[in-house]
Amino acid sequence: MTALEQAIHGPEGLPESLQASVRSPRDTVRAMALDDDRPRCPECKEPLALRAMALSKRAEDGQRVCRGVWGCDQRHVWWKWADRPADPLEICPYPDLFTG
Ligand SMILES: [Zn+2]
Repeated sequence: MTALEQAIHGPEGLPESLQASVRSPRDTVRAMALDDDRPRCPECKEPLALRAMALSKRAEDGQRVCRGVWGCDQRHVWWKWADRPADPLEICPYPDLFTG
C-alpha cells in the first residue's frame, strides 16, 4: 500500500510524523488544489513563490500599501499590490533586493 492509499484510507498505520499532516483525505485534496493554484511566472511559466512584502507609497492614491513580491526558480521577480489581487503581475524593478 502506498502512502497515498494509506492517506485515503486514514492515518492509521502511518508513521507519527505523517499522521500529523494527514487529517482526512479531503484535507489532502484541498492542499493539492491550493498548490496548483499558485501563480505562474509570466515569462517562463514556472510556479512563483511569495518572497517578500514590500511597503511602498502608491503614487496613484497616496496610500501606503504592501506589494507582494513573487519569484520563480529562474530568478525572475514580479510584484503586485496586495490589496489588488486581480491586477496582473508587474516586473519588479529591484530584483537584486529579493534574490540575494
Ligand atoms: Zn520565471
